Amino acid sequence: MAKFLIVDDSTTSRKMLREIIEHELGHIVIGEASDGAKGVKMYDALHPDVVTMDITMPVMDGIEALKEIKELNPEAKVIMITAAGQAKMITKAVDLGADEFIAKPYEHSSIVEILKKLAL
Ligand SMILES: [Mg+2]
Repeated sequence: MAKFLIVDDSTTSRKMLREIIEHELGHIVIGEASDGAKGVKMYDALHPDVVTMDITMPVMDGIEALKEIKELNPEAKVIMITAAGQAKMITKAVDLGADEFIAKPYEHSSIVEILKKLAL
């Protein structure tokens, strides 16, 4: 059973990811953060196995949060949640060591596949 941290400013998005992670995959969500800065703090405090990271968020975006988490732990597994028109951000995230990408709008089967892959 893997421990997940969900970082996303959308309540709906967090709820949906939690639903899949806990009820379909049988893993556990140990924390939810609504912006990148809180996400980095929670990563440091909780040491989750996998992080899902939204890109567009207030206070600190997902790219900066990814960078800080990888500085804390280069082995951190981070799945970026991306939206259309974010090609530049995706390139940046790859350079910073992002492990996987989930595209919005969500496609249920692909989310399940990606989450399963990283939570082994
Ligand atoms: Mg967002």
